Amino acid sequence: MTLENIIRRFRKPGKGSPKRFVSAWTEQEVLDGEVTDCFVVVLRTKGCYWSRVSGCSMCGYINDCAEEAPPEDVIAQFEEAMERHAGQRFLKIYTSGSFLDDDEIGVGAIQHILTTALTRADGVLIESRPEFITRERLEGLPDSGRIEIAIGLESANDVVLRNSINKKMDFGDFRKACELCQDMGMATRAYILVKPPFLTEKEAITDAASTARSASSLVDTISLNPVNVQRNTLVEFLWKRGEYRPPWLWTVLEVLDQAEDVDSRVVVSTAGAGSRRGAHNCGQCDSAIVDFLREFSTDSSVDPPDPRCECREQWLDLLDVQGPMQCSANPHSFFDR
Ligand SMILES: [Zn+2]
Repeated sequence: MTLENIIRRFRKPGKGSPKRFVSAWTEQEVLDGEVTDCFVVVLRTKGCYWSRVSGCSMCGYINDCAEEAPPEDVIAQFEEAMERHAGQRFLKIYTSGSFLDDDEIGVGAIQHILTTALTRADGVLIESRPEFITRERLEGLPDSGRIEIAIGLESANDVVLRNSINKKMDFGDFRKACELCQDMGMATRAYILVKPPFLTEKEAITDAASTARSASSLVDTISLNPVNVQRNTLVEFLWKRGEYRPPWLWTVLEVLDQAEDVDSRVVVSTAGAGSRRGAHNCGQCDSAIVDFLREFSTDSSVDPPDPRCECREQWLDLLDVQGPMQCSANPHSFFDR
């Protein structure tokens, strides 16, 4: 059985109302080198096309989708969400899919939403898979110099992309999309997954740190995204059976340390961090590290947390012994057992 088929079994496409956006909140971001308030809105669409076919092993965003979401509904959601916008200079517009996918959003809606967004904020961030980042599409965007495009790279290792994540893209696709954005004067951001399934803790450190180095010449910002266990995913299935543990927070700190010399700005996603489903340590030292990671994303000069906790020894031991315990990046033999 292929990984593509295995993942399809866990998927439960959401049946949310296309009349309601998923959520909206305010967070801190850096725009033109300055810390500023950022308004984030998650719109409900029919979801990522790849997720409807099979999907990535850790991604449960399709849970938040609608069966159908016509362009006029997506526009109405955006306008309703923007009633809560209170002058934040930076806007992030997420769709749990690809904002540049005509089939997911509709060309008219893409244009309308971006044009409105750029009249209300100084900078706008959208997300897309690389296959929708074409010259034709970028040239059609309003004021593209103020748009930042975020791409889920996850790993620069094509074997990990294929056998662990089921990403349906390779590093070459990512590189091409980034070069095009650079050519158009657009800012870019890469999401890097920390600890895809089937990798040991140690392999996960190497994978994320080397991915950060490979991506650094191609993007302005690197976002380290430690896995959080999302519902109806292969990762959740493994986690429930005790065959997957989200990364240790020590692992996240180690990746940051190893990626210290990259040229891009580095930020860390703390979604779910400190909980059982997110990156976590022993429970005693978690909150200090999570606070540090949160602060680090807007101020990289902040002091790292106290590394003294008994669980650090446990983590160091794990880095030495774990390996034969897991089938590294080979889900097929794992499932055939
Ligand atoms: Zn601890």
